[in-house]
Amino acid sequence: MTTMDTILIVNAGSSSVKFQVFAVDGDGRLRRRIKGQVDGIGSRPHLRATGSSGEKLAERVYPIESVGDVPAALQVAADWLRDEQRITPLAVGHRVVHGGPDYDRPVLIDHSVVGRLERYAALAPLHQPHNLAPIRALLEKFPSLPQVACFDTAFHRHHDDIADFYAIPCQLHEDGVRRYGFHGLSYEYIATTLPKVAPDIATGRVIVAHLGSGASMCALLGGRSIESTMGFTALDGLPMGTRPGQIDPGVLLYLISVKGMAPAELQNFLYRDCGLKGLSGISNDMRELQTSKEPEAAFAVEYFAYRVALSAGMLAAALQGVDAFVFTAGIGENSDGIRARIADRLGWLGVALDPSENHRHSLRISRPDTTPVYVVPTDEELMIAQHTLSLLWSQRPSHPARGRAS
Ligand code: ADP
Repeated sequence: MTTMDTILIVNAGSSSVKFQVFAVDGDGRLRRRIKGQVDGIGSRPHLRATGSSGEKLAERVYPIESVGDVPAALQVAADWLRDEQRITPLAVGHRVVHGGPDYDRPVLIDHSVVGRLERYAALAPLHQPHNLAPIRALLEKFPSLPQVACFDTAFHRHHDDIADFYAIPCQLHEDGVRRYGFHGLSYEYIATTLPKVAPDIATGRVIVAHLGSGASMCALLGGRSIESTMGFTALDGLPMGTRPGQIDPGVLLYLISVKGMAPAELQNFLYRDCGLKGLSGISNDMRELQTSKEPEAAFAVEYFAYRVALSAGMLAAALQGVDAFVFTAGIGENSDGIRARIADRLGWLGVALDPSENHRHSLRISRPDTTPVYVVPTDEELMIAQHTLSLLWSQRPSHPARGRAS
């Protein structure tokens, strides 16, 4: 490979396609070159992209009829990359939300893999079809282009049965109704980064809080996931921007039988109208809630911290103790205020933050001689790029490199 070889990473959602381009050095080192997205699919299509130092590379609007769906949005990005950046990727790595019961690692995509992943659309109806649409389109158009699917569920697939089952008739487990867990690419990135940034804790019992607009927590034992706050879908566990997190199923029965909600309406309600947005009635954005003077905003912020702390108790029980905490994702990496509120509720687990280190978003934000607390920025796209390169190299067994990051 030459230094100009590249890998394209695609994260496709219902109204946007996010993409990143990594250059592959001769020794297998990955360097991020471009971050971009095409959003406003079917409404006001818009391409934005920045280079490795954050410089603007593109910002343009497209006519609505030219970008009507997800594959068309990826086509816009691919055309721009080819025509204006001279980039034709060696391989494409896709974020795919659901790998079902069987995929415990990324997989090289072919028609039979796509067929299998389509069956899991029922497990993630709002995400999986959008993840798969550009895969199918590329497979049709460029059948020899290597594509790799990286799953949000895969990192959790080795949970013990006790963490994987619901207390419902076992046939439903066979049918795929399991506690899968999500944000696995983020947790895998943290698990592979800890030996470098915090070797003292990497082999221990670590609770990782991925707090973004989607939020979950994971119990890592020796770098492997043993428990997660999320389950069958990404609705469970912590309250999120617009999702409620853990909720008594009796509430759903009430909404159906008393409030007359239809399935599609209930789905929309649970994914879009609950969480911080529903609770505060103000916003799903933690920054807005923290600056608001309204008591409902303050309540939603405190509620979030409370539920994170409650879940930490649950995960500490799964781990039989806790050696360290890690905060990551939008809120976890950027909000010293939320971290402080959560830490205040974890004193019983030996947690005490150093306020100035916390304020500076330092790597280690705890006081000496207390349970270590770290802030580690996540990088799911780099994880996907590493997996994609590894699978690509594995097709060429003579090459020693395995996708190291710089
Ligand atoms: P996702 O990738 O799930 O869309 P992110 O990890 O980007 O989400 O996190 C988005 C969330 O992070 C939003 O709720 C946003 O308000 C929050 N966030 C980002 N920066 C800050 C900050 N400085 N203080 C508080 N919250 C922040």
